[in-house]
Amino acid sequence: MNVNQSAPPVPPFGQPQPVYLGHHQSSYGGQPGPTTAPTSYGTYNGPVPGYQQTPPPGVSRAPPSSGAPPASTAQGPCGQTAYGQFGQGDVQNGPSSTVQMQRLPGYQPFGSAILAPVVSQPAVLQPYGPPPTSAQVTAQLAGMQISGTVAPASPPSGLGYGPPTSLASASGSFPNSGLYGSYPQGQAPPLGQAQGHPGTQPPQRSVPLQASSFTPPASGGPRMPSMTGPPLPGQSFGGPPVSQPNHVSSLAPQALPPGTQMTGPPGPPLPPMHSSQQPGYQLQQNGSFGPTRGPQSNYGSPYPGAATFGSQPGPPQPLPPKRLDPDAIPSPIQVIEDDRNNRGSEPFVTGVRGQVPPLVTTNFLVKDQGNASPRYIRCTSYNIPCTSDMAKQAQVPLAAVIKPLARLPPEEASPYVVDHGESGPLRCNRCKAYMCPFMQFVEGGRRFQCCFCSCINDVPPQYFQHLDHTGKRVDAYDRPELSLGSYEFLATVDYCKNNKFPSPPAFIFMIDVSYNAIRSGLVRLLCEELKSLLDFLPREGGAEESAIRVGFVTYNKVLHFYNVKSSLAQPQMMVVSDVGDMFVPLLDGFLVNVNESQAVITSLLDQIPEMFADTRETETVFAPVIQAGMEALKAAECAGKLFLFHTSLPIAEAPGKLKNRDDRKLINTDKEKTLFQPQTGAYQTLAKECVAQGCCVDLFLFPNQYVDVATLSVVPQLTGGSVYKYACFQVENDQERFLSDLRRDVQKVVGFDAVMRVRTSTGIRAVDFFGAFYMNNTTDVELAGLDGDKTVTVEFKHDDRLNEENGALMQCALLYTSCAGQRRLRIHNLALNCCTQLADLYRNCETDTLINYMAKFAYRGVLSSPVKTVRDTLITQCAQILACYRKNCASPSSAGQLILPECMKLLPVYLNCVLKSDVLQPGAEVTTDDRAYVRQLVTSMDVAETNVFFYPRLLPLTKSPIENTTEPPAVRASEERLSNGDIYLLENGLNLFLWVGASVQQGVVQSLFGVSSFSQITSGLSVLPVLDNLLSKKVQGLIDSLRAQRSRYMKLIVVKQEDKLETLFKHFLVEDKSLSGGASYVDFLCHMHKEIRQLLS
Ligand SMILES: [Zn+2]
Repeated sequence: MNVNQSAPPVPPFGQPQPVYLGHHQSSYGGQPGPTTAPTSYGTYNGPVPGYQQTPPPGVSRAPPSSGAPPASTAQGPCGQTAYGQFGQGDVQNGPSSTVQMQRLPGYQPFGSAILAPVVSQPAVLQPYGPPPTSAQVTAQLAGMQISGTVAPASPPSGLGYGPPTSLASASGSFPNSGLYGSYPQGQAPPLGQAQGHPGTQPPQRSVPLQASSFTPPASGGPRMPSMTGPPLPGQSFGGPPVSQPNHVSSLAPQALPPGTQMTGPPGPPLPPMHSSQQPGYQLQQNGSFGPTRGPQSNYGSPYPGAATFGSQPGPPQPLPPKRLDPDAIPSPIQVIEDDRNNRGSEPFVTGVRGQVPPLVTTNFLVKDQGNASPRYIRCTSYNIPCTSDMAKQAQVPLAAVIKPLARLPPEEASPYVVDHGESGPLRCNRCKAYMCPFMQFVEGGRRFQCCFCSCINDVPPQYFQHLDHTGKRVDAYDRPELSLGSYEFLATVDYCKNNKFPSPPAFIFMIDVSYNAIRSGLVRLLCEELKSLLDFLPREGGAEESAIRVGFVTYNKVLHFYNVKSSLAQPQMMVVSDVGDMFVPLLDGFLVNVNESQAVITSLLDQIPEMFADTRETETVFAPVIQAGMEALKAAECAGKLFLFHTSLPIAEAPGKLKNRDDRKLINTDKEKTLFQPQTGAYQTLAKECVAQGCCVDLFLFPNQYVDVATLSVVPQLTGGSVYKYACFQVENDQERFLSDLRRDVQKVVGFDAVMRVRTSTGIRAVDFFGAFYMNNTTDVELAGLDGDKTVTVEFKHDDRLNEENGALMQCALLYTSCAGQRRLRIHNLALNCCTQLADLYRNCETDTLINYMAKFAYRGVLSSPVKTVRDTLITQCAQILACYRKNCASPSSAGQLILPECMKLLPVYLNCVLKSDVLQPGAEVTTDDRAYVRQLVTSMDVAETNVFFYPRLLPLTKSPIENTTEPPAVRASEERLSNGDIYLLENGLNLFLWVGASVQQGVVQSLFGVSSFSQITSGLSVLPVLDNLLSKKVQGLIDSLRAQRSRYMKLIVVKQEDKLETLFKHFLVEDKSLSGGASYVDFLCHMHKEIRQLLS
């Protein structure tokens, strides 16, 4: 068994090794003490290879400072430290000194490709590489006009979620230019239906339907509890927090004060002050919150007032409008840069409780020393108030964003798999928490006290181990479950459905072959792609082939099943036209091994486009398709995933039939919420059946008009699946994006039939959950499927008093079936600090995570409350958070000063981005489907994704020397940061723009576009020509790099300054006032200041 100290093996998490055969080992009674305790700490806690470049092989490492047992000299036969007690299946309770280290065949230290995690493993993910079949496709799709290197001017339909605007594209080729205006203005939504079910949320978690019951997330308490009350005992009013250990270091370029200050004493307006004159962010304004002159002429219109901020009374008319210097207010770019500079070079070591990790925008390595990596869990605060009163006062939501199957960089080891054999994982008898580093062993090691519920449990004989003088088990560092934040247990049959080990999962491809799907070229493209893509199904570890079986269905108004049994010469089709009572017409030959049936599958995929080439059928069904896939999995007694490729509103007579109920007139009315609710409860019922079967549904949509994403995405959402949307899909313009997404989606590792449970120590508990899953009770998060991109956000509330000494613990346990059909438990543990001083709370917050939570809370809120109410709630909560800080933590100062906590100084700018997002404040060009699509996307986003989604990255390409190939530093997302002599890239995780200034040098234009002048650049271009010069290569490289960082392919859109498309681009300049009425950053900050002052007065 491979347990090498100097180079932690990095097994793909779907790989059965290294397995710690814990109870087979010799620990029972055989360890006289530290002198023979192996120094196996380094085995999995040792230096991460990424920053330990040249480890001396075979030399045992010193234990880390966090308290490893004394370095011993127990060495294996190779002169290496013996950590072999994890790998010895043949030694039962014998002395550990006899064990030997074994190596996996082919083992090589440091990132051996063989052992690299599947998910980041080039050999698995990248061999797919360039679209292997596009040339073939081109050849076959006669007349489809797939161009060479330069695509024709594409319609601006490359937005991540649909065609961007109703503007005609420059080329005039946008096929549905009247799309947005011409969607049938549907009937009023069926109110009875809409109210009959609580949206896509699990029933017991459903948000109340009455608008009035919409409450702020943090506590649900009164809007301003305790703001005028006395300070808490021991609370200091004496001065600003003096240290910011987590976010400000001595490297900070400016000597920032702990609180970010904007001063604005009432009285005669003062001229704006430059930030260079004062430390930190200070600026003068007249203390009123009326019109502020915008930072540039385009945005100089007055403060948007009530239309934007809803419930706010109109601002008192101010005296002379003051200009706020945008450079003097907190800059996201500066915060990101500072964190990169201060925290990017050192690994983040998780041994210290309550340590705030670096920002998601900082590249850093993680070293697991007992707490889960921030890649798995991020919290809104790492120091939580001891009492619920304090929490209510601060209004800071206590939440964790959990990504249980997160992919790790190659330098970091995937969680080790621990096998306790037939006895299964060791758990607390009372609360069922799993063994973890926080459990306290007592009575000489014969018992352990649960860190979550304090129950004293017996240690089973086979797990017994002596304690050292500090009370720690001498084998603590040999066992992942006693020393690491994250690890896995092999599950026993008790953890399996029907007490039976699961079969390997299956993938079923279900392809719409109605007229639209055929005409757009989708069916031909997809079938061609699948022929090669099926060779890259996820597999575990070194497995030669995937254990996943595949099946195929095509459909329009009826369903066609295919028998692709390997013994057949040709595939056989079976038609089921009774879609009202769906059954699976064949069992044998429907789900097959790809390799065995390769010839038959290839033949089928060749034939499908031909068979339906002349179809006139335009109507489709939808629910029966999912039903059929689910029934097929049920018949095969396995979990799995359905890949649905669907084009239209399912209006054919069948269960789940839908009508067009889109109605933009509902926007800004109390009925707007119905646009986000499914129009029938049928899909929730269906989803529940899917979850019970472990049937996850991924939906690829190719709509030419309204398809009711809100309803169609119910099943994917409740089964842990994904939704992709390619509006007005045309092969020539969109194949790159679709194929890229498809490849990634099919290849990604998935946990099936999963249940997640979050346990906490006494005093707090998980009370609310956000994400793509289903809940049948208040504690178990059920996920038919869960992939490495999906997060579950969990909110905690107090149910008792916490204390500073013990802190607060959480343990996330995910039970799932791996791609090979192995049942496993993945455990993540995290310990947080607790505080009696509000200042400690505010010093240890993470704004990016707060925004992730607040966005998800708001996006769920729109299902049940008017959007305006949701916006107002967010604003109020933000003001309360900041007012509480101002009142309790900041130094006394004039009321005209806005003082922001250092850790939260970006809260206003980021929150404003959420408020003006398409879901909460749609522009005229945003469709109902776009909003529903984005709403469900955000629900599963991790913190890095919400960060860039709400505040896009704007990268200048021509400011730095061409030779400099590192990613250029970003600039703030505002028009005034654009120079017309430069070129910029803007990305938000879904969209990618290349903006070209009108005065860009001719040489630059030539280098990048291969044309001689700005006017010759094609607006809306989606592919840059590949040219043999430095600039071209640099930009292409940067685009590739940005795409590689994101979970979905971002299609490029070239935007020229002053071009029509620029309106679309400006939508993403989020510091500016938006066309839909969203406030500029400066205006919003002023508004927030006013809100805070009202709360304080
Ligand atoms: Zn317990």
